[in-house]
Amino acid sequence: MSKPQPWTTKDAEEYYGFKRWGGNNFSVDPQGHLCVHPKGDHRKIRITDIVKEVEASGLKPPLTIRVQDLLRHRVTQINEAFRKAIDEEGYDARYRGVFPIKVNQLREVVEEILDAGEEYDFGLEAGSKPELIIALALLENRKALLICNGYKDEEYIELALMGRRLGKQTIIVVEQLSEIDAIIHIARRMGVQPHIGIRVKLTTAGEGKWAESTGENAKFGLTASEIVAAADKLTKAKMKDALRLVHFHIGSQVPNIGTIKKAVVEATRFYCELKRMGFPMGLLDVGGGLGIDYDGSRSAFESSMNYTMEVYARDVVANIKQVCEESGITVPDIVSESGRALVAPHSILIFEAVDRITRDAHGESPPKGRSHAIIRALEDIRKNKRKFDPLERYHDAKQKREDAHALFSLGKLRLQERAHADRLFWEICRQIRLDLAHTADIPDDLARLDAMLAEMYVCNFSVFQSLLDHWALDQLFPIAPIHRLNERPTVQATLVDITCDSDGKVDEFIDLEDVRRTLSVHPLKEGQPYYIGAFMVGAYQDIMGDLHNLFGRVNEAHVFLEDDEEDGFYIEESIPGYSVERILGMIQYNSEDLCRMLKRQVDKATKADSVRPREGVAMVDLYERLIRGRTYLIPHREEKASLRRTKGNPGRG
Ligand SMILES: *Cc1c(COP(=O)(O)O)cnc(C)c1O
Repeated sequence: MSKPQPWTTKDAEEYYGFKRWGGNNFSVDPQGHLCVHPKGDHRKIRITDIVKEVEASGLKPPLTIRVQDLLRHRVTQINEAFRKAIDEEGYDARYRGVFPIKVNQLREVVEEILDAGEEYDFGLEAGSKPELIIALALLENRKALLICNGYKDEEYIELALMGRRLGKQTIIVVEQLSEIDAIIHIARRMGVQPHIGIRVKLTTAGEGKWAESTGENAKFGLTASEIVAAADKLTKAKMKDALRLVHFHIGSQVPNIGTIKKAVVEATRFYCELKRMGFPMGLLDVGGGLGIDYDGSRSAFESSMNYTMEVYARDVVANIKQVCEESGITVPDIVSESGRALVAPHSILIFEAVDRITRDAHGESPPKGRSHAIIRALEDIRKNKRKFDPLERYHDAKQKREDAHALFSLGKLRLQERAHADRLFWEICRQIRLDLAHTADIPDDLARLDAMLAEMYVCNFSVFQSLLDHWALDQLFPIAPIHRLNERPTVQATLVDITCDSDGKVDEFIDLEDVRRTLSVHPLKEGQPYYIGAFMVGAYQDIMGDLHNLFGRVNEAHVFLEDDEEDGFYIEESIPGYSVERILGMIQYNSEDLCRMLKRQVDKATKADSVRPREGVAMVDLYERLIRGRTYLIPHREEKASLRRTKGNPGRG
């Protein structure tokens, strides 16, 4: 057999797909470190350097890194994409985008988007009362739009109309016919001229993960007959002047540009008809749905998209223009509510692999004496004297192992014998896998061997907190180590988190045309951290994360490029994740009460002489210290280091 070629950083770029899904924003340096290029140009930051600096300030992974310049870059990109499309198509109106707050509500994120979008009059979209409360305070640009979606009560409508009084371009988008009456009523009472949009229920259904909740089954939007009724109500109320906008939203992460075209055409027809009925109109809102190419395949696969942001902009502009021309209607300003496409790329989740779980095959010596018949049978399969083909050999081994487990349950096999049977089984599987290494067409049962034999890397994070869509929607995120990329990754692994749930795991990874069941990673080295990144997690993930197992939010660092230094960066803000105390407080446990309750029990034990007084004090100290501490794991090597540090410094803490 020929010797394998040496592994290079180019191989790492290819295997983990950095260029495919990351475009110009990621590269691997000659030392094997992954670098982020916040502005897509030559300036870069080593991600491990960011982690080191954050660690020096006392915060450890799991860590969310927000690359603020990358966020700004995306805001510029979408505005420039529409500007270019409008120029090229000779389109006679403007693009006026808004950011849907629900996609990432964090203040630093919303503020950064508004700041980067200021010169484009980029606005905000709110889908609830609390989001509108945020938007009213943060959006000061009077030329920017504030789109109000979602179900609305009186308070919501009052708040939106208050925005109009303050000179903001607040538009209340009617999602249900009944909202029209409420808006007319409250606007009259407040003496405010409202600006209203109508969300239309399109026949064009979305595609991808959200297909079911769109089209005629959507819970939002007005049907054609309801739109006619709404138009009548406004006319009767002498509020024709209020109607300004048509809105649709066909779901998030639309993988196929064809779907978007169809929806745009249909919605533009609604727009033209309303305009023809004499409403002032002026705005067409194409909602969200602009995708992210998570796997870099440029395909209509769920985790990908068969178009780019530039193609999206051009198709939206061109189709609106064409339909308007055919209907003899002047073209509207175009609004889009792209959330995912703006914020997903800027955020990276870093976590550490802290341990590994292997299929036990490593050999203690078999039990002494003549072995059980079932063990001898497995030995024979292992030696494969009868030259069975791999599939037959596998099925044989599987059957014998099941028999061994049955014999154990019946009391006919000892613990050591069962352990030996298991070891033999995994050894056979490994042999079969090796024999098949160069076979192209592998039977299904054997193809599964890879995943069965894979190691599990135990990673210090919670899927439920930080990668919720992976669990809930099978959404794939790019995942890769952020260092040692100049070493060949020789271990096939899946990732498991530290929650107590068996589905707290990542066992599907991006691949070009398929889904990988395992990820190639590097062997863990004693005493050295192994950092893994999950990328493009800036949309929806961190806000939907829950308190499962009470881990809570992870630490966070906001990173900026340093202007006067080539590859310099600075961390503007580090936000610690939740302490145990804070999490417990959210579910009505007061930490002082808990400490008091524990102390009472310790006192009792001390009085009863079952615990020595000094030991009791130490127990209470430990309990109090941990309640103020972190929810995530502190890897073993750190624990040792901190013990050493405190030894010479007994007066502290
Ligand atoms: C969620 C949502 C969006 C954002 O969609 P993305 O696909 O993330 O761009 C936009 N508009 C409405 C009404 C939404 O509900």
